[in-house]
Amino acid sequence: MKVLVTGGTGYIGSHTCVSLLNSGSDVVIADNLSNSRLEVLNRIEKITGKKPVFYKTDLRDKTELYKIFEKENIDSVIHFAALKTIPDSIAHPLEYYENNVAGTMNICHAMKEYNVKKIVLSSSAAVYGLTDNNPIKETAPLFPYNPYGRTKMIQEYIVSDFAKSEKAGAVILRYFNPIGAHESGLIGEDPMGTPSNLMPYISQVASGRLEKLFVFGNDYNTPDGTGVRDYIHVCDLAEGHIKALEKLDIIKDKVLTVNLGSGHGYSVLEIIKSFEKASGIKINYEIAPRREGDVGTCFADITLAQKEIGWKAKRNIEKMCLDEWTWQKLNPKGYEY
Ligand code: NAD
Ligand code: UDP
Repeated sequence: MKVLVTGGTGYIGSHTCVSLLNSGSDVVIADNLSNSRLEVLNRIEKITGKKPVFYKTDLRDKTELYKIFEKENIDSVIHFAALKTIPDSIAHPLEYYENNVAGTMNICHAMKEYNVKKIVLSSSAAVYGLTDNNPIKETAPLFPYNPYGRTKMIQEYIVSDFAKSEKAGAVILRYFNPIGAHESGLIGEDPMGTPSNLMPYISQVASGRLEKLFVFGNDYNTPDGTGVRDYIHVCDLAEGHIKALEKLDIIKDKVLTVNLGSGHGYSVLEIIKSFEKASGIKINYEIAPRREGDVGTCFADITLAQKEIGWKAKRNIEKMCLDEWTWQKLNPKGYEY
């Protein structure tokens, strides 16, 4: 089976390429390297013994994208490529709509043109927006509250409408909070600039790259007052994509939407504690005001993922922190070693 992985040199994409190669699939990556580095390909090869075919392509360039479909005999697509930083999406909404929406349109056009009938789409818990109705089920109303979340919701509509009209199969995966890294420490999350997510921020404080963590609010209605989220090991997430591809062979021309989370919520202070235990390093932090647009608690109902794709997260919070720290320790400047 040959899988086109858009955004395959990115954080989640690279871990999924490792799972795909280890499960015997051929992998073709299309990525414009706007938020990733070529070095990732060497690291994937080090882990798996195989190097994916790589095209430096922007998905907004339909002609270049069609050339990949023309040359490679693609069986299915996993579509990761997107811009993903919430504050950035508020500052540059048009860029986000253009990149995420036009990229998805072009992927669907190419699939139609080249008769490819299977797609897995990266979506996000961001589509649920400001709900406090936890655990969140896939049937919850969609109210994304920032441009990023809205592009994810639009991607979902495009892919499912396309699949229905073309008799293609689609699995839409709504990720909660992916953290951690491959246990080898060879690949991991390498944010460009100061991270906006909690885990890369903590690990850069631990390595001395950042001075201290600001904990956004300790007056939420949660056991210790800090925000609670559903963290999931990126390798568990990657394995979820293999299960989703397998499911596509069964559902054929249906559309299935599932949450990928661990189903557990951890507070910011609990994450700091787990990270300190895993790394043996004290994390310098300070309580700061709430971050605009944050909810107190957000975690997934994972019943459907178990039932429909036979997938459940295996790695616990200690393992997530340990693997995150191994990656950070071995690559204090990310892939620019
Ligand atoms: P990432 O930025 O590490 O990876 C995305 C990759 O896509 C990058 O390598 C980037 O260069 C590439 N890309 C972006 N726009 C492109 C374009 N127009 N053409 C070609 N390549 C392009 O992000 P990630 O964390 O791996 O996220 C992957 C997917 O998962 C995204 O769709 C994101 O919205 C979704 N997601 C991520 C999270 C998270 O917390 N990381 C949570 C929920 C959903
Ligand atoms: N958070 C924090 N300090 C940071 C980054 C995040 O206290 O520097 C908190 C944030 O308020 C939330 C949790 O950590 O409660 C997870 O935030 P992240 O941005 O990683 O994910 P999201 O809010 O998108 O779920």
